[in-house]
Amino acid sequence: MIDLSGKEAIVTGGGSGIGRGICSVLALAGANVLVTDISRGSAEETMRYCSYGGDITAKELDVTNEHSIDKIISEHIKERKKIDILVNNAGIIGSEGWSNREIPNSQDWAEVYEVNVRGVVKVSERVSIELKSQNQGKIVNIASIAARQGSPDSPHYSTSKAAVVSWTQSHALQMAPYNVNVNAVCPGLIWTPIWESIAKKRSQFGGNLDTTGLEGKKLFDQTVKSWIPLQREQTPEDIGNAVAFLASDIAQNITGQSINVDGGRFTN
Ligand code: NAP
Repeated sequence: MIDLSGKEAIVTGGGSGIGRGICSVLALAGANVLVTDISRGSAEETMRYCSYGGDITAKELDVTNEHSIDKIISEHIKERKKIDILVNNAGIIGSEGWSNREIPNSQDWAEVYEVNVRGVVKVSERVSIELKSQNQGKIVNIASIAARQGSPDSPHYSTSKAAVVSWTQSHALQMAPYNVNVNAVCPGLIWTPIWESIAKKRSQFGGNLDTTGLEGKKLFDQTVKSWIPLQREQTPEDIGNAVAFLASDIAQNITGQSINVDGGRFTN
């Protein structure tokens, strides 16, 4: 078991799906976790879900809002004195009504870029001020296997996740002189609200796999069967385990990497 006792972790988008799984694994490994989310209520739900762990707190944080980021990070430093781990997990697949549009519109492109790319950069840059002065820290970005392939129905999302992989490489080089590791995890297929909306879209317009006549979880299950060599879906905790490893001291010589946790979907 990875030991993160005494570490101070901050997770964005921690109120749901993969973010909740990441928070629970970090808490189980002994970290004190600040769960943040655009929805305070869902962050608090995760806080309760992780109550077996160390010191778990919850706050509202919109990753697109620089003022809100600065406030939360400044408060955290005042209260907890340091940040050891930042997990940039918050992400979206499209703007309102995305699932009902065959082709993403300019609002989809703009909002997804703002949250998935600019949000990661904004939070990382603010936290990096603290990590530089501490001369230590770990950042883990949640990208996607969407970064590894083109997508006919969600090019805006794939492009945003490829940008997260590229940002991870650049930021790792910026932070290496300060003894800070920056890596990414690329999750495969996990049944969360994001995938529910992908299934809704693909049941209407198709995608890069023939799932004619299927919808919802059945469409997702068929995608897992066709795409994943290990023949099983991934879980939020699978992603949490990879994050915990990259956030631990035993990963001290890994930086700038984006690691697939996808049951073998991509092997290079
Ligand atoms: P999810 O359940 O929808 O979780 C995303 C969380 O981010 C939600 O709690 C959401 O809050 C929050 N959020 C949205 N906009 C935000 C903002 N501006 N500031 C702060 N928080 C915000 O989806 P998920 O599947 O767990 O996704 C988590 C991450 O994994 C995302 O980066 C996603 O792209 C990535 N990913 C997912 C999969 C998959 O198969 N599910 C695969 C690869 C990568 P609201 O619900 O209130 O909007």
